[in-house]
Amino acid sequence: MDVSSNAVQLEDSRILPLTEYQAVTAPDSQTPTTDQLECDIERAADQIGEMDRQVALHEAGHAVAAYEFEWEIGQVSIDADGESDGTARMKSAAATSDLGHAVQVLLAGIAAQCIDAGCAIDLSRRGGEQDMRQIAERFAKDGTSPDDRAVTLRDQGHAVEQLLQRNWTKVQALMTKLLAKRTLSGPETVAILKAPAVPRQ
Ligand SMILES: [Zn+2]
Repeated sequence: MDVSSNAVQLEDSRILPLTEYQAVTAPDSQTPTTDQLECDIERAADQIGEMDRQVALHEAGHAVAAYEFEWEIGQVSIDADGESDGTARMKSAAATSDLGHAVQVLLAGIAAQCIDAGCAIDLSRRGGEQDMRQIAERFAKDGTSPDDRAVTLRDQGHAVEQLLQRNWTKVQALMTKLLAKRTLSGPETVAILKAPAVPRQ
């Protein structure tokens, strides 16, 4: 990342003889000022904060939809697990639950992000790849025809959008708690969803 390489370069430049220092800086003569560096660091922190917020929104979406369908929630986390940026583990299986509910729970992550961004659900949204793969597996298992797949995605996408909008206070409360604690157990998640505190804006 730019910030760290700039920082290293600044530190190094202090111990270089003047001539070498000029050689290093001459090509663009744009040694960052302390103000610029602070600005870069702030921007990097903002980006990391926004990435965390997107993951928290996504996982909160899954958890709220699962909770509404009375699925048992295992754990919700905004820490990456190697395959995905965050996780919402359920004790109910998306492979065997009611098809409509399963598709809604799986779409709920990207749906929460899209509602937050004020745009229509985008099934190709980054971060939803694994969810779409699970939906495809479920369709394959059920032998759902291509036409039925399209109808199911459209109808269940619409339904989960409404479900999350009705429960937006829960999504926000869970997102806020996830950002503070990063990982929540099933019982901790349920406690928040039962009595969601209205987060301060
Ligand atoms: Zn997801």
